[in-house]
Amino acid sequence: MTVKVLILGGTREARELAGLATGDPGFEVVSSLAGRVRDPVLPVGEVRIGGFGGTEGLRKWLADNDIDLVVDATHPFAGTISAHAAQAAGSAGVPLLHVRRPGWAEHPDDHRLRVPDLPAAARTAAGYERVFLTIGRQGVAHFAGLTRPWFLIRAIDPPTGEVPPHHLLLLARGPFTVDTEFELLREHRIDALVTKDSGGGLTEAKLIAARRRGIPVILVDRPPVPAGADRAETVAAAWRWLRQRSQI
Ligand code: NAP
Repeated sequence: MTVKVLILGGTREARELAGLATGDPGFEVVSSLAGRVRDPVLPVGEVRIGGFGGTEGLRKWLADNDIDLVVDATHPFAGTISAHAAQAAGSAGVPLLHVRRPGWAEHPDDHRLRVPDLPAAARTAAGYERVFLTIGRQGVAHFAGLTRPWFLIRAIDPPTGEVPPHHLLLLARGPFTVDTEFELLREHRIDALVTKDSGGGLTEAKLIAARRRGIPVILVDRPPVPAGADRAETVAAAWRWLRQRSQI
């Protein structure tokens, strides 16, 4: 008997887990993406794209598709879908795992300014002259009211909402190297970096470059993981959870 798994994705961890589980005949896997990015990196195996229609839509989708296990391997800042997964899986009686990579470890030479959310990051950024904004396109509107500083905005796709009046938009998808990040900070005379505490190796180079340049990083804290379900920090631990749960 195969175990049917829904992986809520949009991250490297979700793609890696889908790769492991689709290669195991004991599992039938559906990966789900929100559909935010125009040209997403797709996991192997079956993929569905688009929202479920809130908690109730997700609960119904789990029942209609006979899902046995749910893995929420979404981005640490995708707080809404994680909350929906917790509520929907809870009411459908389907075991749920939240996969959350750890946040970035702090180095003694780092100059980090931790802030609770994007509005607080915008208030802090207002004290600088030339700010590198790398928070994804959706949060840029929080900075739109600032006439100072000048922003270098980097995102995969263009921001859809309002943008600050003085900025340069750089469309690019990582991973980036420390050398290219360092050069970008130098070339644009950046005096502060704003980013979210996403963690993981793919986007860490900018933090190392900022440390080497001696500039502060305005670091937005993560939303909390919903209480109640199981948690894992790595793909290996998530894969162990799937195999254990499939044998219960
Ligand atoms: P969010 O605010 O937590 O979710 C907003 C809505 O988008 C959800 O209510 C849900 O719509 C839909 N949704 C989100 N993730 C989904 C998924 N994997 N499959 C199907 N529907 C999904 O999410 P977000 O911050 O906009 O992020 C969207 C996606 O991008 C996530 O899958 C995440 O892993 C990925 N991502 C996010 C970030 C980030 O910084 N936030 C960075 C990299 C990748 P319904 O209510 O209609 O179901």
